[in-house]
Amino acid sequence: MFNKILIANRGEIALRIMRACRELGIQSVAIHSSADADSLHVKYADESVCVGKSSSAESYLRIPNIIAAAEITGAEAIHPGYGFLAENAEFAEICVENDFTWIGPSADVIRNLGDKATARSMTVEAGVPVVPGTGLVDSVEEAEAAGRQFGFPVIIKATAGGGGKGMRVAWDEAELRKNYVAARTEAGASFGNDAVYIEKYLVNPRHVEIQLMADHHGNVIHFGERDCSVQRRHQKLIEEAPSPAVSEELRQRMGSAAVSLARNVGYRSAGTVEFLLDEDGSFYFMEMNTRIQVEHPVSEMVTGFDLMKWMIRVAAGEQFDFTQDDVVVKGHAIECRINAENPERDFMPCPGRVFYFHAPGGPGIRVDTHVYSDYLVPPHYDSLLAKIIAHGKDREEAVARMRRALSECVFEGLPTSTPFHLEVLNNPVFLQGKATTRFLEEELSHLQEGLRVRAKTEEG
Ligand code: ADP
Repeated sequence: MFNKILIANRGEIALRIMRACRELGIQSVAIHSSADADSLHVKYADESVCVGKSSSAESYLRIPNIIAAAEITGAEAIHPGYGFLAENAEFAEICVENDFTWIGPSADVIRNLGDKATARSMTVEAGVPVVPGTGLVDSVEEAEAAGRQFGFPVIIKATAGGGGKGMRVAWDEAELRKNYVAARTEAGASFGNDAVYIEKYLVNPRHVEIQLMADHHGNVIHFGERDCSVQRRHQKLIEEAPSPAVSEELRQRMGSAAVSLARNVGYRSAGTVEFLLDEDGSFYFMEMNTRIQVEHPVSEMVTGFDLMKWMIRVAAGEQFDFTQDDVVVKGHAIECRINAENPERDFMPCPGRVFYFHAPGGPGIRVDTHVYSDYLVPPHYDSLLAKIIAHGKDREEAVARMRRALSECVFEGLPTSTPFHLEVLNNPVFLQGKATTRFLEEELSHLQEGLRVRAKTEEG
């Protein structure tokens, strides 16, 4: 096992990794920007190194400074968390070249799966279903032909895409011509790669993903699914496990599909295979995330496995001491991502000082956060303040606990997305377990009306 790990991240996920390190008896090294000098992850770590100025480009993304920090502190391994350099194959390669263990899958695997078109063809090879679609599409004429072949609507996707960027839906041929150009331009500007492909657009699917992990001894195990259908502009807001739409039989089929893909590509470490689940029960591969995800605690709560500790143990060469049969989903868990943003103003990010913070507690509640009273949320990074995870014996109890936890939670000084989450947790479509990826769009006016009433009541 390692003696010391450098955590190349910030915020709640840096803390989460350090907590796993502490339980495993490993020393942790924090890196931070000048804006994060007073951050909790810096205080919690055994050592810390400032790697640059406030902007991510000058700190959390600056590879030579991070490698230098690992060298001077004598760290043996590097954990990238999520975001920043987590899916940067070059960084993974540089870590290994400099004799640090990379806590993640190999650089080649990251590179192949990070390119959506390549990932699609690898998935087909593994015998896993993909949404009907094309290879790379080089001209408007080819795009039009794809539209005719699959029938509208279709979705144009940047092969280098991520975070919902570089994706455009087209409902007819005129829109396809226009959005094909727009998607390529956006992809070129965001990713420096304007290659796109086209897929059939499923009109009312759910986003269901399988958490898995592979050790270096040929074992690949899945930890069931998470339903992440509640999204805003293709970004997840609420995640839960199990999915209200997935039976035990479907769970095993989706799990096996994810495991065969992982085996086929030589995957090691924690990863997530994202699927679209159609109304008729068919599921299709969408992409594979080659890192630990924001929503991993949901799976930890229902399976009882500490995925972060296992991710580290696997990187150190340990073999799983359990089998697929030992993974049993118990009860129900839901996660709400609390952001510093104003849901009444189109979710505008609102960084600033949290004068007073009170975390919820009590039975079944877990809070992953880096916030403390008097913490200044810097404007340079994402707006995530806390993840609240509620676990209950069933979905009803998990929802009731989440409502209670959200109402206990205090972030004084900033608008947060908490009231919005409370609205979702009172929405009949959500409560019936029927939310698809169109949920937010379809229910937005009801949710906003609820927010207005809530704001008025609080003022009064
Ligand atoms: P990103 O890598 O940018 O997150 P994804 O490929 O994971 O992009 O897709 C993000 C979201 O976009 C999905 O969760 C889903 O809501 C929607 N989506 C993607 N592809 C399709 C499709 N073929 N049909 C319907 N919705 C889709």
